[in-house]
Amino acid sequence: MSTPTKLYEGKAKILYTTDDPGVLLTQFKDDATAFNAQKKGTIAGKGEINCTISQHLFQLLERQGIPTHFIDCPSASTMRVKAVKIIPLEVVVRNIAAGSLCQQTGLALGTVLNPPLVEFYYKNDALGDPLLTIDRLRMMALATPEQVEQLRSMALKINVLLTDFFQRCAITLVDFKLEFGMEGEQLLLADEISPDTCRLWDQADTDPDRRVMDKDRFRRDLGGVEQAYQHVLERVLAQITPV
Ligand code: UDP
Repeated sequence: MSTPTKLYEGKAKILYTTDDPGVLLTQFKDDATAFNAQKKGTIAGKGEINCTISQHLFQLLERQGIPTHFIDCPSASTMRVKAVKIIPLEVVVRNIAAGSLCQQTGLALGTVLNPPLVEFYYKNDALGDPLLTIDRLRMMALATPEQVEQLRSMALKINVLLTDFFQRCAITLVDFKLEFGMEGEQLLLADEISPDTCRLWDQADTDPDRRVMDKDRFRRDLGGVEQAYQHVLERVLAQITPV
């Protein structure tokens, strides 16, 4: 067996090659960044927690007909995934106004968005991941018009499935970010789905700070980051039906 080679190290994950060119190994790290890496830290246990939560959410989505890059988890913090060509877009779905949406539009935190909002951001750290218009997206040929429509409809279907799942965990899915890749002609959901990439509010608490169970605890120095991630994991595991 050849030694895995590091392909790429990102802010929260390291990607390695494997013996199979169609398979990559992702190592989830405890490192955390926010505000385009201007704020850095570590969240103890995050790698294992995010890998395990992502595993269960990918499996749940696969069972409901959403193709994902997930293969399996050789350890608690590593995931084998199908090698895909990542589309350089961050697809954000919002059910409730928070974060940059409030800052940029003046909408009050907590405003319910019905229908949910789907947004496309250009995945480019040097440019600070700017929000794109559909026309800019087309002009830059970041995705074909057909792919854009497919991304939108997959994102909305994923939103229905995840909202329903988190509801059963007594957690409100406020918003989340998805990334997709192409395996040949097939569009696959890639990256991760975790408290790093979702806003999750505890339904048992209405206090705007105490209810936060996601990376906003780190971004906003709310404390209790590790515990919040651990609680999300516990609730996800309690709801997962054995396959
Ligand atoms: N998000 C992410 N990675 C990014 C930007 C956003 O995972 O690079 C997630 C974020 O955690 C939230 C959603 O996408 O769940 C919407 O984020 P927003 O645009 O409000 O940006 P933020 O306020 O996090 O800067």
